[in-house]
Amino acid sequence: MAYDPENVFAKILRGEIPCTRVYEDGHALAFEDINPQAPVHVLVIPKGAYVSMDDFSGAASDAEIAGFFRAVGAVARQLELANPGYRILANHGDDGMQEVPHFHVHIFGGRKLGPMLKRV
Ligand code: 5GP
Repeated sequence: MAYDPENVFAKILRGEIPCTRVYEDGHALAFEDINPQAPVHVLVIPKGAYVSMDDFSGAASDAEIAGFFRAVGAVARQLELANPGYRILANHGDDGMQEVPHFHVHIFGGRKLGPMLKRV
């Protein structure tokens, strides 16, 4: 799947639509999810144009991958989630129900998060 530069997170990265910014460095931007699923729900996105976890893990440089995942940890520390804890999640593709085609990691926290997956 080719990267769509008009996806909503690309627009946020370009400053074309607003976000509530939590953290930014050379590799990543973190901002509050517009529809939070927990008391803390932050999205961390790489600055590079990667569609998904599959694309990012396969095509990004070692520096981009290291920088991005260091940023995820830094965001969680900044939000004081390391203790009592938090959850990260990345949806990929149809079965993963990914909605926005720019790779992102969700950080959830602020309460006991319950079972990892809802039984359906
Ligand atoms: P996905 O299902 O792709 O893993 O998650 C996409 C997430 O992006 C959803 O949790 C959704 O609420 C969030 N989202 C979609 N559009 C916007 C937006 O314009 N701004 C922000 N801050 N979050 C968005």
